[in-house]
Amino acid sequence: MFTKIRKRLRKFFSRNNNNAPSSLTFDDPTVWYQLTYVNLSNCSGITTLPKELGASPHLEKLVLSNNGFGASVEFKWHWLQQTAIQNNLRFLDLSKNSLTELPACIGKLSALTELIVCHNSLRFLPRDLGTLPHLEKLVLSNNGFGASHEFEWHWLQQTAIQNNLRFLDLSKNSLMIVLPACIGKLSALTELIVCHNSLRYLPQSIGNLRNLQVLRSSNNKLFYLPGSMMNMQLETLDVSTNDFLTLDGTLIFKELTLRILAAKVVLKNRSTYRKERDNIPPELFKQFEYLETETNYCLYCKRPCLDSYITEFMRLNPLCIANTTILDTEENEILSFQCYFCSPDCREKSRILNIWLE
Ligand SMILES: [Zn+2]
Repeated sequence: MFTKIRKRLRKFFSRNNNNAPSSLTFDDPTVWYQLTYVNLSNCSGITTLPKELGASPHLEKLVLSNNGFGASVEFKWHWLQQTAIQNNLRFLDLSKNSLTELPACIGKLSALTELIVCHNSLRFLPRDLGTLPHLEKLVLSNNGFGASHEFEWHWLQQTAIQNNLRFLDLSKNSLMIVLPACIGKLSALTELIVCHNSLRYLPQSIGNLRNLQVLRSSNNKLFYLPGSMMNMQLETLDVSTNDFLTLDGTLIFKELTLRILAAKVVLKNRSTYRKERDNIPPELFKQFEYLETETNYCLYCKRPCLDSYITEFMRLNPLCIANTTILDTEENEILSFQCYFCSPDCREKSRILNIWLE
């Protein structure tokens, strides 16, 4: 296996370095000390790398796509546990490696800005990946995200990723019904791609993505869009090939249920709920988590709609919220948006503003 790596490295040196060593051995430190970019894609299924590669002090970019790293057990990631690579690596491509999970040590690559892990069998990521301080681009397309799992999105709930991630590609996964609402906390996000899933709704929290420029959600099963998007100004909105319904003016008065009341009591005592989590009935805890992450906000006054509220479907030309739109047909030129109002008063004031009409 290492013969292939050696061969590839020799080729690399002869292309990029006039002082290429005539022969490479893993004992020769000059080999490792000069590396800044290594491409070992399509290396006939290598499953690990020599430890020395991880110790190379200038390595910033590493491409390992289309190999067999998924066959690797934990100890074979020793190369990724070296201090040098953890401090310096900025770009890592592990696409097409049959990975079912990423090693926990990937959460220590403190300089990493781009991680490409598309075309694997991932269903979740290590929680610490969300704590990387510089991660800006994450490509997760063609994996198994969305098959439900309690801790599946914990990596997305960390402060660092919420403050820094700019590009997220979750297309061609198993996302069902609705995206996790915590996506609305990715405050730096400029491009979100969720095409080719089975989504019926986008969360209202999408409207919190103030920096979002591009939203691609084609080839899903969306019925309508969240009303919070009516305040957005995107560059590109792609919602072609969905199941949009023609909904207009449907009013729903949501009543306060006992379960929500109980969850609100827990919310008020949030400082203690975590340590007492075991004592809270699972149904109630679920309701609490739902309230915490998926609260809807009044389109007019922006206050949370926790008690009774009104939802109303409003119709809008998507060109009002994006410079470029990609739709199926002319029929879809007007889309339905589900809007929330905390009171009939806010709904009336919003009507007077006429904000949703073309
Ligand atoms: Zn209101």
